[in-house]
Amino acid sequence: KGESTDIVIIGGGGAGMTAAIEAHNQGAKVILIEKMPMLGGNTVRAEGGLNAAGTPYQAAAGIKDSPELHFEDTMKGGKNLNNPELVRTLTNGAAASVEWLKENGAELSEVGRAGGASVNRIHRPAGGEAAGNFIVVALKKKLEEYKIDVRLRTTADEIVKNKDGVVTGVKVTDKDGKQYTISANSVILAAGGFGANMDMIKGYQPKLEGFSTTNHPGATGDGTTMAEKIGAKLVDMKEIQIHPTTIPNQGVLITEGVRGDGAILVNSEGKRFTNELLTRDVVSRNILAQSGKVAYLIFNDELRANLKATEVYFGMDLVKEAATPEELAAQIGVDGKALADTLNTYNGFVASGKDTEFERPDLELSFEKGKYYAIQVTPGIHHTMGGVAINTQAQVLDTKDQVIAGLYAAGEVTGGVHGANRLGGNALADITTFGRIAADEAVKALKK
Ligand code: ADP
Repeated sequence: KGESTDIVIIGGGGAGMTAAIEAHNQGAKVILIEKMPMLGGNTVRAEGGLNAAGTPYQAAAGIKDSPELHFEDTMKGGKNLNNPELVRTLTNGAAASVEWLKENGAELSEVGRAGGASVNRIHRPAGGEAAGNFIVVALKKKLEEYKIDVRLRTTADEIVKNKDGVVTGVKVTDKDGKQYTISANSVILAAGGFGANMDMIKGYQPKLEGFSTTNHPGATGDGTTMAEKIGAKLVDMKEIQIHPTTIPNQGVLITEGVRGDGAILVNSEGKRFTNELLTRDVVSRNILAQSGKVAYLIFNDELRANLKATEVYFGMDLVKEAATPEELAAQIGVDGKALADTLNTYNGFVASGKDTEFERPDLELSFEKGKYYAIQVTPGIHHTMGGVAINTQAQVLDTKDQVIAGLYAAGEVTGGVHGANRLGGNALADITTFGRIAADEAVKALKK
């Protein structure tokens, strides 16, 4: 019993949606299954943007960049644990992913700075909308327009393999608890990471017990678990990223763009303690070393006007505001003179173009004028770098590094692309680049 199709895609986040549209456009019959009542996964929560080098938008802004530099930044950010071939594939393919998104209704025409990037490279929608939601809304429209078979509230339970070790389909359970098998020429695994599965997190990193998470509730690691059961190799599972700026106990994430566009971090003594543009792991560690394991993002109206994404935080009542640094300090329980001194010193750095204290390379914002704003932040679980081993064709590998025929994977479910630490902006680059590759390869296999 059951049904058959060309390609089944497990997971309707960014990677799965991208793969579905790409495979459909290449003439394949696709079924996309998603266990949650809606599409989007963690992707819909991505606020930052997409790292790509060599785009027309960078050129228009006079930014000199190259896939090679993006490669170097990504390897350095990942502490060289990354699989260099996968990183090459990512950095060589990212500009085409920006183009692909534009063709599919999600143009990312603004370029900004993100942590760990040597130049402005993170692409976001014009007008300050959060990139993840913007992309998910556009791709959802395409799925509807193309009448692609999307099945919500349908959970993949098992990847089916035949006696010859070839993947032949997926066993699923629908919203009414009915189980059935979808046979397919290929399966693309795009089920995301395990950042919302505390047992799995603790199992790989006991020291993260008790951390809050920024992940959507469906990020439970089903993809890696299912793939491991049929012999897939898992890599870097211990590499779990904490995001430096999340709201304590709320799982809400403050986009890196706030720091990227100029906000500084101060501790409860009103003092800066880090170059705010260092990679997520380092900034997180630096925050955890402060009293109360919290810090405050400080910015002003100039940044608020430039970065529309901040309005969401105002709407959620997460921002304290005041007319002067002293008043702001009083609101957050910080010494007024200390905060005012910190801002004065920093204004001097902006004026001279040199941060002699922490060597922040990019000094975009000066704090001469208010209003002044503060958001209390602490690090939270954000991204699982580890996952299923793949090659540059997004084919899943077994524990002997042999290809598991018929099985592809893309996005957070995979390991190796981001090494020990993912740079902000590389997740959207990953899902769109490897999502397209998985689809292209699965379609090629269909034609063989
Ligand atoms: P990526 O960024 O790699 O696309 P996301 O987290 O955005 O990852 O998307 C992964 C999607 O996969 C989520 O929407 C999640 O609910 C879905 N998913 C996870 N496990 C299953 C499963 N067993 N069956 C179907 N969908 C799943």
